[in-house]
Amino acid sequence: MYEIPGQRYVPKDALKGAWNAHQFHENSEFYADFGTYDVTMTVPEDYVVGASGLIESESNSDGQKTVRYLADDVHDFAWTASQDYLVFEQQWQHVAIRALVRPAHKGQGQRHIDAAVTALERYADWVGEYPYTTLTVVDAIGGANGMEYPTLITSGTAYALPQSARFLELVTIHEFGHQYFYGLLASNEFEEAWLDEGMNSYIESRIMDDAYPGGSVIDFGPFELGDIEMQRLGYVKDNPSKGALFTSSWEYSMGDYGKASYPKPATVMNTLERYWGWEMQREFLRTYYDTWRFRHPTTRDLQDVAESVSEQDLDWFFGQFVYGTAVVDQEVVSILNTRQDDDTFRTRVRVRRNEDGVFPTTLQVRTATDSTFTAQWDGVDQWKDISFSSPSRVVEAWLDPDRAILLDINHLNNRMVIAPEADNQFARKAQLRAASFFQTVLFVLGGLF
Ligand SMILES: [Zn+2]
Repeated sequence: MYEIPGQRYVPKDALKGAWNAHQFHENSEFYADFGTYDVTMTVPEDYVVGASGLIESESNSDGQKTVRYLADDVHDFAWTASQDYLVFEQQWQHVAIRALVRPAHKGQGQRHIDAAVTALERYADWVGEYPYTTLTVVDAIGGANGMEYPTLITSGTAYALPQSARFLELVTIHEFGHQYFYGLLASNEFEEAWLDEGMNSYIESRIMDDAYPGGSVIDFGPFELGDIEMQRLGYVKDNPSKGALFTSSWEYSMGDYGKASYPKPATVMNTLERYWGWEMQREFLRTYYDTWRFRHPTTRDLQDVAESVSEQDLDWFFGQFVYGTAVVDQEVVSILNTRQDDDTFRTRVRVRRNEDGVFPTTLQVRTATDSTFTAQWDGVDQWKDISFSSPSRVVEAWLDPDRAILLDINHLNNRMVIAPEADNQFARKAQLRAASFFQTVLFVLGGLF
């Protein structure tokens, strides 16, 4: 890419632009100019062809067929051809969806289409309209599964994959999302991979949990795992303090690229959504798309949009969780009730910030007679005493009771109960159950890009 003055990080008053042309690194993906592709292929007549863009012409002769494709306003071109593909087709609004499915997965052909529609519908509502008129979903082989190209994606499934294991849906929705975060919002993935994989993983987790409530990824009776929770576990499971989102892909130490490009940014964005609400978040996403589609936005551009839409200074948020490696862990340390002379109670709840991350939150307390009171904590001090007065003793204190701060690496210490209560035990068990099952999921999704 040749970046002209004012584009990305080339200063506006620079005398000339600069080439952005890194060598290839194992972790780095795409960054390219938009253009028009005009591609003609000649293949055996019985081969099914799929490609980026639109079929312009097709002719047959001597047992061969020649297909010409035109793809406008894209920055890459992909094609596939096989005599084995089964073709599933469905029109969704202006988009002709075509799934090319291998015979072994014939029974899952419609699942490919349904997942694509699930993604198209929500992206149109939450981010912006899909501007192309075709989408090809390819059930590819082995290592080619789970990859994005303009208007052509590869999905991934397994023989007899049950409905309750939605890996096919997850991969299809994820790869479709790259039509936006990669295709239309064509950020530099060598230097800022999170803008592509991370923003995409965030919307993917939101679509999955919206479309398949309960356990959106795994839904085996008591073994349920939602995508937002899966992303969060992927972030907290080891060394959450390592790997800032804003890092060139080759500068990450081993293992940190994956975490900082997928589950951590998904969790950062899910937390931002809960911080200011879905309506603001949607406005931010739609404005980012409207402003930057068919261009090459940077982390700075994304923050500018978030700040102008919300009219808030977000340096505290981006500084800690995008440019920095701040970790949030807020804890309720103690509850101390003192009976006053008039027989009411004065309660002191001590809360603590166990890590460097600062996040404003709510402390909710419940009394023995089931009254609840809340107080706000800015999360700044290393520890703080927050006091309440009430006619009865406080028996429970709960920081972030709505679990809005998904970045908090340990939710188990957010709540303290000083009377025996069964539901506290339950919360702990559910968490451990999800964590143990997570390894299996990571294994299955290991090949996703
Ligand atoms: Zn991806």
